[in-house]
Amino acid sequence: MPILCGHRLCDSTLNRIVDLTLPLYADVPVRPGDPGVVMDELADIATEGYRLTHLSMGTHTGTHIDAPSHIIESGNTLNNISFDVLVGPCCLVNVAGEPESSITLDDLIIHKDVIRSTGRVVLKSGWAKRWGTPEYYSNSPSITIEAARWLTGKDVHVKLVGFDMPTPSVKQEIDIHKVFLEGGIPIVECLNLENLTQSHFEIVVAPLPLRNREGAPCRVFGLLNRSS
Ligand SMILES: [Zn+2]
Repeated sequence: MPILCGHRLCDSTLNRIVDLTLPLYADVPVRPGDPGVVMDELADIATEGYRLTHLSMGTHTGTHIDAPSHIIESGNTLNNISFDVLVGPCCLVNVAGEPESSITLDDLIIHKDVIRSTGRVVLKSGWAKRWGTPEYYSNSPSITIEAARWLTGKDVHVKLVGFDMPTPSVKQEIDIHKVFLEGGIPIVECLNLENLTQSHFEIVVAPLPLRNREGAPCRVFGLLNRSS
């Protein structure tokens, strides 16, 4: 007999929970120019009786969210992004994962119905396998501006988009960010989609509540049917 706590997320008869977050650790390679991840032990159990760590890192390190104010002067900050955007139905779309490959409108349009019905999409290129190496930050696949405009346009109009790469595009980075963020659509970057086996699931994106900031590290979960 499963033990049920009554909370939907903990109901083991309904869901399997998959962590869609990359691990964070001291000195993990970061994007060139970004501050490194520093974890200094300020207290230890032998001396102080407790353990405490000083953590320092950029707001766009590891699995994180870009709020509209990342690129747009008057754009929404983190605290203005509704939970209705961050939590809910989502679909997974597999895309090309070769270095410098393009994610095109043709790759997405065949999934139009499920993208439109869920309103959230994560694109899996397999790039997360490179996490922890400097190669993670160079030559990752890029979504085309046409595909990005389609996702934000009236045909599907997603409310949240996610990538398992450090950026939606290395080729037109600012322009592609603008397409999503000017449309008020937050971008989740550096997802780990390697263990996601179901194309239709529920996503939970939980950014740190950094007041008036343009982005933050997130814990991201996928809730799957238990049978998948
Ligand atoms: Zn970012």
